[in-house]
Order: sequence, then structure tokens, then C-alpha cells
Amino acid sequence: MTKTIALLGATGSIGRQTLEVARELGISVAALTAHTQIDLLEQQARQFMPRLAVLYDPDAARELEGRLRGTGIEVLAGEEGLLAAASLDEADTVVTAVMGSVGLRPTLAAIEKGKRIALANKETLVCAGELVMDAAERYGAEIVPVDSEHSAVFQCLQGCRDRREVRRILLTCSGGPFYGKTFGELEDMTAADALRHPNWHMGPKITVDSATLMNKGLEIIEAMRLYRLPVEQVQAVIHRQSIVHSLVEFRDGALLAQLGTPDMKLPIRYAMTYPHRAESPNAPLDLLTCGALTFDRPDEEAFPCLRLAREAAAVGGTACAILNGANEAAVGLFLQGKLGFNDIPRRVERALERTEVQYQPSLADILEADRAARRAVLL
Ligand code: NDP
Ligand code: MG
Repeated sequence: MTKTIALLGATGSIGRQTLEVARELGISVAALTAHTQIDLLEQQARQFMPRLAVLYDPDAARELEGRLRGTGIEVLAGEEGLLAAASLDEADTVVTAVMGSVGLRPTLAAIEKGKRIALANKETLVCAGELVMDAAERYGAEIVPVDSEHSAVFQCLQGCRDRREVRRILLTCSGGPFYGKTFGELEDMTAADALRHPNWHMGPKITVDSATLMNKGLEIIEAMRLYRLPVEQVQAVIHRQSIVHSLVEFRDGALLAQLGTPDMKLPIRYAMTYPHRAESPNAPLDLLTCGALTFDRPDEEAFPCLRLAREAAAVGGTACAILNGANEAAVGLFLQGKLGFNDIPRRVERALERTEVQYQPSLADILEADRAARRAVLL
């Protein structure tokens, strides 16, 4: 059970919910980090009194330092700050809730300190999953997923003594705001349209990923890395209600699932309390009123990101880092109104075609693949 956390990405959707869970469970906070949101980070720091507060942006960090003078809270900036937060001795658990591949090095730093990783930052596992999982094994660091689907799988696997008994993982997928549309109909969708997710309130990047279904593609790769399975053994199933959070199919044909209302606080709480469960103040799912549960096949013609992710996963090496870097860059441009919705898969596919894949990559190869993919999107 977690006693003290370092929280990377404190001002985001997962970060704010993690602080609510920490307050409920009486968990202390040793470090808080964000990118530029000074006001919120200052407020959180005054409330939780961490030893360290980090803003990635150096100007914002300087301003925060002035504001927190006299509180005894140290303020740092940049990657150096994130690494310091991830390696603080006081924290037994590091919650990685930053957006994007910027989470990679801090996650590795926390693993090297043998900390529990409550992992929300899926981009890290997509880019460098094998490296991260190998390091976790070497340093005896537990990785407990926060992503709701992977938490569901993690919970379903608790009784499994031999992983070879797993036949498939079925990741459920809400289908996003554009479920049922054709590729042609998606051409004119704007950022405002994509940001209207039916079931979850999340940060803008993952919300767009949920609209393109790249989120499910990234999650297939995340599941492959966490559970060391080939891509053929991880499948996506459309489930509009987001009640069944994912399933594991075993060799004997048994399917185990975890169900609940769509609420990220459950997987966040479980990542803190694992292998135990804490009392939740929230009402549980009521099967008598939740309505019918439906399942459907994803449409990869309308949503090519899902196909691109599966293809990158099959290629291996740095292909997933290229997929992820290109997607982060393309989604950033889409959110600024500089790219159309269907240009996201087009630019990702182009980056995959133009960037050379390295096999058995080092951390430096992965970081270079990420940079090259971002450049290929801009060209
Ligand atoms: P948000 O965009 O809401 O929050 C992102 C956080 O990361 C903010 O604190 C932000 O700081 C910080 N951040 C962004 N860029 C940088 C950077 N370059 N350096 C340092 N910090 C940075 O995202 P979410 O909370 O929605 O998602 C976070 C992660 O969790 C993602 O990887 C996402 O895929 C994953 N996830 C999220 C779920 C959800 O329900 N939201 C569900 C499952 C997974 P600032 O506020 O200052 O910009
Ligand atoms: Mg998810």
C-alpha cells in the first residue's frame, strides 16, 4: 500500500483525480509536477505541502519559486526537475500522469530506484515498453497500470498463476464521439467536435486519440508490453457503454471481466492500494439500471489509426516510437487547427514510411526515432 507519492502531471485530468484519491486515503505527497499551469500547481502545493514542486517550463518555474518562497517547498524546472521528482527518496510510488513521451526518462529513473509505478502515461510504454519492462524486472519495480482497460486486465489476472494460460486480452473501446461515421464523413471534423467524448472527461490529447481510435491502438501496444503478448493476442472490441473495462480470455474458454461505472478514480485507487482494496465513497455500478451492454467490431477503414498501431506493433523495434511521436505531433497540429482530422492518420502513416526502423533499440535510438517522427510530420 502506497504511503507517499511523487505525482508527475499533477494539474491534468489524472493528476487532479489522483490528488482527490490521495486525500481520501491519507496518502502524502512528496512531489508535484506540471508543464506551465502555475496557478493550479501553486494551489496544489500549498494544499499538499510537497518537498518539491516542478514546472517543466523554466520561466513558469522561476515565477513559482517566487510565489512559494518561505513555504520550504523547493522548486525545480525542466527534465532535471522531473527526474528529481521521480527519484525522491520519500516517495514509495511514482504516479506517471504526464502527457506524452516526456514521461519516458522520469519513469526509467523511478524504476531504477525500485519504486512502484502507478502508470497512466501510456506513451512511455508504447515508445519503450520492452526497455521499461526489462528495467522494472531488473530493479524489482512494480508497474501497476492506471489506464482503465489495463487495470481491468491486471485485476482479472490476479488469480492467474501461469501467464501461458491466457489466450487473449480483449480491450474494450467506447468508439469515441465519431462511432458509426465513414472515413469520408470524418474529413471535416474539427477539434471542438473531437473534444466531445461521450463517456470520459480527459486531457485534450487523449480525447483526440479516442476520436481517431489511436488511443485503442496505443493501448493494444501498452497491453502487449505489460503482459508480454504478441499483437495477435490483444484485440479491441467496441463497447459503447464503457461499463466492461476489459476482459481476459483463458485457454479453457473462460472470460473474466472487470465492470464498473466509467470513473478513473477506481483504477487510480487500486494502483495505490494494490494488492488490497480500499473503501470507495462512490456508489458502485447498479446492474439493474445500467441498461444493455453491447459489443461490436471496430471499423478500421473509417479509423485507420487502429490499423497503423497494429502494423507498427508487428514491425517492432522503434516502429511504435515512430507511431507515437508522429501521432503526438499530428494531434498537436490538429488541436491548433492546422491539420484536418483525417490528416492525423495520413501524417502518421507518412512518418512510418519515411523513418527508418532500428531493431533492438537503445534508449538513445528510441528518443531519436521520436524526434525523427515529429520532424516527418512537419515536412
Ligand atoms: P492532461 O493533458 O489533462 O494532463 C497532462 C499533464 O501533464 C498536466 O499536468 C501537464 O501540465 C503535464 N505535461 C504536459 N506536457 C508536459 C511536459 N512537456 N512536461 C511536463 N509536464 C507536462 O492529460 P491526462 O491527465 O488526460 O492524461 C495524462 C496521461 O494519462 C496520458 O498519457 C494519457 O494517455 C493517460 N491516461 C489518461 C486518462 C484520462 O482519463 N485522462 C485515462 C487513461 C490514460 P500542464 O497542466 O501545466 O500543461
Ligand atoms: Mg484507457
